[in-house]
Amino acid sequence: MILKALRRWWQCLQKRPDIKRVIIVESMTDVPARLASNFYVVRRAGFDRRAVFNCPCNCGRRIDLNLVKSQGPNWSLAIKNGKATLNPSVWLRDEPCQSHFFIRDNKVMWV
Ligand SMILES: [Zn+2]
Repeated sequence: MILKALRRWWQCLQKRPDIKRVIIVESMTDVPARLASNFYVVRRAGFDRRAVFNCPCNCGRRIDLNLVKSQGPNWSLAIKNGKATLNPSVWLRDEPCQSHFFIRDNKVMWV
């Protein structure tokens, strides 16, 4: 019981996940190699095309989401007051970290 609570607390400390800044760029080539805690949105002709950010568990995995409906599985992104909200959740089923989370107003909510 206590051990479980401790472990959870430790995991929370390890995961400093929240997004610092939403940065809008014009193409994938404008997304830097080091993303830090930033959330990059590729927007062209007024349309959001991709969202690129690091896995919030700090595993170093780069997440690249498709925001275009016609191109297979896609997410919808809302940016309000410079803060990102993403739907549905992101689940890295095939990665060792198995991260599963929502992004709401730049905050990472673990599932
Ligand atoms: Zn991860």
